[in-house]
Amino acid sequence: MNKKLTIALVAHDKRKADMIEWTLHNAHFLSMHNMICTGTTGGLIRNAFEEKGIQANIVCMHSGPMGGDAEIAAMVVRKKIDLAIFLIDDLNPQPHEADIQMLLRQCRVHNVPIACNRYSADLMITSTLWDDETYVPMEPKYIQFNR
Ligand code: PGA
Repeated sequence: MNKKLTIALVAHDKRKADMIEWTLHNAHFLSMHNMICTGTTGGLIRNAFEEKGIQANIVCMHSGPMGGDAEIAAMVVRKKIDLAIFLIDDLNPQPHEADIQMLLRQCRVHNVPIACNRYSADLMITSTLWDDETYVPMEPKYIQFNR
């Protein structure tokens, strides 16, 4: 891929093992892009990369429950995020559910690709559309459909 992406990475506690495994599996790809993470997720990815001697640009926001998701949502609004990988714990309630919904909603509103499982993440990072100069993402239209 020619384009350097800014990729948001967020994983809830019970999905962090999944996230570390996925990021290590895709370390070569991720090391060529910028990563913006919630605090704990980013710290764990950084440690895992350091242990393997992998250089990467990882910026950590606050921890999710302390506003990290909200900070990343604000970056989405300002068009600073190209892609988000958000591994949500769908089996347990989260104290910052409002912020989770905000991040998901702002990605939808601002047309930012967001993967909530590893399969989607794999498909998104292997897409050829990133380098297709002729491809223009279609923004959502909030209009009434009339038959
Ligand atoms: P964390 O935040 O990476 O700081 O744990 C993730 C989240 O719970 O949104």
